Amino acid sequence: MIYDVVVVGGGPSGATAAQDLADAGHKVAMLDRAGRIKPCGGAVPPRLITDFNIPDSQIVAKINTARMISPTQRQVDIPIENGYVGMVDREHFDEYLRTRAVDAGADRHTGTFIRIMRGPNGTHVVYRDKATREEVALKTKLIIGADGARSDVARAEVPGGDTIPYVIAYHEIIKAPEPTASYNPKRCDVIYDGAISPDFYGWVFPHGTSASVGMGTGLDGVDLKKATADLRANSGLSDCETIRKEGAPIPLKPLDKWDNGTDVVLAGDAAGVVAPSSGEGIYYAMAGGRVAATAAQACLRSGKAKDLQIARKLFMKEHKTVFKVLGAMQDAYYRSDDRRERFVSLCHDVDVQRLTFEAYMNKKLVKARPMAHLKIGIKNLAHLTGLVSPLRT
Ligand SMILES: Cc1cc2nc3c(=O)[nH]c(=O)nc-3n(C[C@H](O)[C@H](O)[C@H](O)COP(=O)(O)OP(=O)(O)OC[C@H]3O[C@@H](n4cnc5c(N)ncnc54)[C@H](O)[C@@H]3O)c2cc1C
Repeated sequence: MIYDVVVVGGGPSGATAAQDLADAGHKVAMLDRAGRIKPCGGAVPPRLITDFNIPDSQIVAKINTARMISPTQRQVDIPIENGYVGMVDREHFDEYLRTRAVDAGADRHTGTFIRIMRGPNGTHVVYRDKATREEVALKTKLIIGADGARSDVARAEVPGGDTIPYVIAYHEIIKAPEPTASYNPKRCDVIYDGAISPDFYGWVFPHGTSASVGMGTGLDGVDLKKATADLRANSGLSDCETIRKEGAPIPLKPLDKWDNGTDVVLAGDAAGVVAPSSGEGIYYAMAGGRVAATAAQACLRSGKAKDLQIARKLFMKEHKTVFKVLGAMQDAYYRSDDRRERFVSLCHDVDVQRLTFEAYMNKKLVKARPMAHLKIGIKNLAHLTGLVSPLRT
């Protein structure tokens, strides 16, 4: 038995790739080690729900407001127009995606990836089976590495795969309180405060009966648990029951190359693909899984390894500009409390709200009124050069 593709990892990127390949009639295996819920805030944009046909039953909360909170505790509420931000519980969402891939025809294998073995007998993905503890070798033509941040496949196969920069994100899943003046089950709070995160942000994301409260940082020496305890105290959530405490890396920069030039292509966190500024990765992982499947199919058809490059090309064609803008925003505004104050100040502007939320919700930079672009540009410049006070909008 020779698989066309073995997908290593059954998170959003791997399950999407496996489903697309199975739907197209390929022999595909999906290997996942199982047994761990991915730590994640679980916020997903409408574009994900539409593009990947996610049923309403997977959406545990529908968010209609985003509250930006500055270092001086100023709050700007941004209404989410024309839709909502969805919340998924990764425990159920990932399993739903994996089951869907299996229903489409993918073979599911449960165990831990060990290595890729190449020889006269062909290429094999070797894993340790979770139930039997035996080593199993799957013969395959191609491999998709979708095994998340700090991917073993990326480290072994793709240049730079072992040196992707990360922030560490930590969160606590708490039992949601009854709605109060400070907790609204339909509102996401995003906290830009150096005392909570000196280089990223903190969040309170409602999930129906539970909520995710956490923060991220790329700096050594930051006490993530203390920062999260402080964030819970500031948000009036200290007394809520804690259900889980967990952390994981979020990659900060897409790799320059996603394939190894012969038979491996990466997808999702394994390729370093998470949006700068927001740390949003689920949509981009699924989009990455989809383009990896497209590239693998092209390669299987043509027999040309070069076609594996199609994955990165397709992805960047659509998302490069948004990544650039978000990267520039993070560089400019996440470096000091003065800058964070200015950033929240800018969020008062209705045109800024429309542009940023359109980019998040639909993954497109919309053309606003030309005068709005000019006004935002001038305000941006005025804040970055310190010409206006952060307390003025
Ligand atoms: C605390 C935190 C909060 C976040 N909040 C959000 C958010 O609100 N919204 C958002 O869009 N993004 C968020 N992200 C980012 C998002 O979770 C990731 O970008 C996304 O999960 C990437 O999907 P993936 O499929 O590439 O990788 P993963 O989801 O990590 O999936 C990888 C899969 O590979 C499997 N695997 C790994 N190693 C092996 C191995 N050796 N053998 C076999 N299987 C293996 C794992 O079991 C897992 O199922 C957050 C991240 C963190 C850490």
